[in-house]
Amino acid sequence: MTSTSLIPRDEATVSALQKLRFFPLAVTGGHGCTLIEEGGRELLDLSASWGAAGLGHSHSAIRTAVGRALANQAGASILSGTNEPAVELAEMLLKVTPGTDDRRVWLGHSGSDANETVARVVPAATGRPRVIAFSGAYHGGTQGSMSVSGHSAQDGVAKAAGLTLVPYPDPFRPFEGDPSGDALLAHIERLLATTCPGDEVACFFMEPIQADGGLIVPPPSFLGRLSQLCARYGILTVSDEVKVGLGRSGKTHCFQHEGFVPDILVLGKGLGGGLPVSAVIGPSGIMDHAPAFSMQTLHGNPVCASAALAVLTTLQAQGLAAKAQETGRILMNEITRLTSDLPGVGDVRGRGLAIGVELVKKDSNDPDADLARKTVYRAWQLGAVFYYVGMNSNVLELTPPLVLSEDEARTGARILAQAIRDVMSGQISDEDVAAFAGW
Ligand SMILES: *Cc1c(COP(=O)(O)O)cnc(C)c1O
Repeated sequence: MTSTSLIPRDEATVSALQKLRFFPLAVTGGHGCTLIEEGGRELLDLSASWGAAGLGHSHSAIRTAVGRALANQAGASILSGTNEPAVELAEMLLKVTPGTDDRRVWLGHSGSDANETVARVVPAATGRPRVIAFSGAYHGGTQGSMSVSGHSAQDGVAKAAGLTLVPYPDPFRPFEGDPSGDALLAHIERLLATTCPGDEVACFFMEPIQADGGLIVPPPSFLGRLSQLCARYGILTVSDEVKVGLGRSGKTHCFQHEGFVPDILVLGKGLGGGLPVSAVIGPSGIMDHAPAFSMQTLHGNPVCASAALAVLTTLQAQGLAAKAQETGRILMNEITRLTSDLPGVGDVRGRGLAIGVELVKKDSNDPDADLARKTVYRAWQLGAVFYYVGMNSNVLELTPPLVLSEDEARTGARILAQAIRDVMSGQISDEDVAAFAGW
């Protein structure tokens, strides 16, 4: 049995280049918020594969839509001929996203190809050479998307020549000690007037919650005020909602918490409900810049587009954004309540079902990566799956399927708190987690 189990077969065959492992998870199936491990144990999935399985696993609407699309498959691509599901998806994305009529939709496979497309096309179409992004930002894992990212996991990767990184507004670790974000806004305003001239900047990439950088929620109105500053210089705002968009934050779009409408919206992960689909929605002047400028053979694939249509339809029909708001409130309150006596928990924050738990050393706010690493391992032993993020690898990230029930939220909070408690009392050794590099 051991010789045929998944883990050793994976170790013998699958490249380490794409492994970001936290514990020995081997999955054979799933439904809703449940993952079934090899051997039959059921785990509560509080990650949804980093937010991708936004409707949970094996959702009937996605199964039906994909089955129908495959039964009479309208080709495999949108490059050299159009197809009904891809066009319907573009139409629906325009309908659910605020903005003018004069916009176009680009369809891709991943957050990376979508952000890479934006990073290439906006400078090309505007003739402006500069791009601004936040340090801590994760916009993807391809060369072009990494070149406009600021995450420490990608230290050493070449950045775009015109890139300027600025700090993210982090109320827990504030720039110049100012949690309101005013000092940071003044800093950005100064940059635009001096070393990073505003009229040379094509676009400003922003995650409305900085996810991989530490699940950081910006202070109220910060991004709205930043977008006004951008507008003064004609800088296009790009809202990268790959992880926190489409209902997860408690609203359809995360920017709707911030009182602004971005010029360009990037969607991925949850858009396909577990299948590879991403989208960029932006002004036609940018998105129609030149034919064949950014394409891959399977872009606009009708099967994946059908899955995305099922996701959008289900989000609306079942009011999943409002449900995420409500369940997220319960999950966050329960975590806060159950960990309030634990000195290792520095901050609990989030919006809807995007929640971060920042772990710190006792008697200080210094990041505790060791505690995070062992906590996710212990939680897996106790029956829940989630990972950690952050520039210092010390923030537990919860992005469960939006269909999470109240009971599941309470169970998840209980396991998370128990896991931290167990690690703090020394139940997990360095040896237990030695094989898992994480990030
Ligand atoms: C995950 C992520 C990406 C990259 O998406 P992939 O599907 O991994 O290519 C881009 N931006 C954000 C905010 C993400 O969370």
